[in-house]
Amino acid sequence: MAYKAVFLDRDDTIVDDPGYIRSPEQLRLIPGAAEALKQLQKMGYLLVIVTNQSGVARGFITEQQLENIHQELKRQLATENAAVDGLYYCPYHPDGEVKDFSVESNLRKPNAGMFFQAEEDLDIDLTQSWMIGDSYRDIQAGQAAGCHTILVDVPGKIREKKKTDAEPDRKAVNLREAVNIIRMYEFHQKAKSSKQASEQSQSPDDLADSSEPEPANQTLSDKLEAKDSTHPPQTELEAVVEETAPLAAPETKIETEAASEEESQATAPESAKVYTAKSRTEAPQPAEPISETHHLLEEIALRLQRKDREGLYQEFSVFKLLSLMLQVIAVFCLIISLGFWLSPKVGGEPVVIMIGYSIALQLIVVALLMMHSRD
Ligand SMILES: [Mg+2]
Repeated sequence: MAYKAVFLDRDDTIVDDPGYIRSPEQLRLIPGAAEALKQLQKMGYLLVIVTNQSGVARGFITEQQLENIHQELKRQLATENAAVDGLYYCPYHPDGEVKDFSVESNLRKPNAGMFFQAEEDLDIDLTQSWMIGDSYRDIQAGQAAGCHTILVDVPGKIREKKKTDAEPDRKAVNLREAVNIIRMYEFHQKAKSSKQASEQSQSPDDLADSSEPEPANQTLSDKLEAKDSTHPPQTELEAVVEETAPLAAPETKIETEAASEEESQATAPESAKVYTAKSRTEAPQPAEPISETHHLLEEIALRLQRKDREGLYQEFSVFKLLSLMLQVIAVFCLIISLGFWLSPKVGGEPVVIMIGYSIALQLIVVALLMMHSRD
């Protein structure tokens, strides 16, 4: 039986992206990323990193330096008891400076070559798998491979989106929320399966009623609902592998946990492959009839959930805690000054001092919050 997997982009999804990471010292895991990977593994997913590394083609780093960076990534994950099952990178770019890597490649996202290679190497069922990334290029690649897709839509980050870019199945503020989305999806799928099983055992005729076509005018929440209530594959992919000339289709650069350096070098050169993904539109998926009121309630629930989820999945902030503590002290000083002012035994000087403290603390709180929001 094939395994389900979660494909992950590297930069700005698992690690911070300063532009191009050129040395292991620059590598920083995004807070919460290792924990999210551990959760996915516990849920039974293989973890596969698929990353474009055009810095090799552009001459910014060598493959050996990239290897060192990835060793550091694995080391940092290991310190948090996390690990990946495969790591695939594409060093090619058509506008590169290094001759050997300055070519088009089907491995480069938005193409799905790395996904198909992982499918073959690790026995992955792509239709049961997910792609999580922070760019529409990641989403396009995931969809070309036939995976579910989640866009890590970091608040405040500006990303390039073409008119032709398809929307992801879901959006998340970070990797932790993405894990929660997958968990909820599985929960709904299991609930749906058990419901269908019980319906079949009670009245087989009900099956005929469930084959109604989707309504023509779907809102966003309808589509999300439909995606939850239907089976995952929107497209079915056929991978066609052809032998081609090396320049037109560069070799696959693969790095798995098990593979040695010698093995990965040995597999690369001659086996140039082109993967062609052909998508087929499926027949309309069965959709359960839902009333207008239900639609409206779903929409309201969705908006309420989105309103709070940023705060839910944000990391703990020292700035926020410190601001809260100082705010409490500032209010306390204000109350004391009020007590002094009302007391006939205390003169005006302590009142002024306490109000001064209160104002100073309030200003510090405002400064801390401004620094935090700029972060
Ligand atoms: Mg990225």
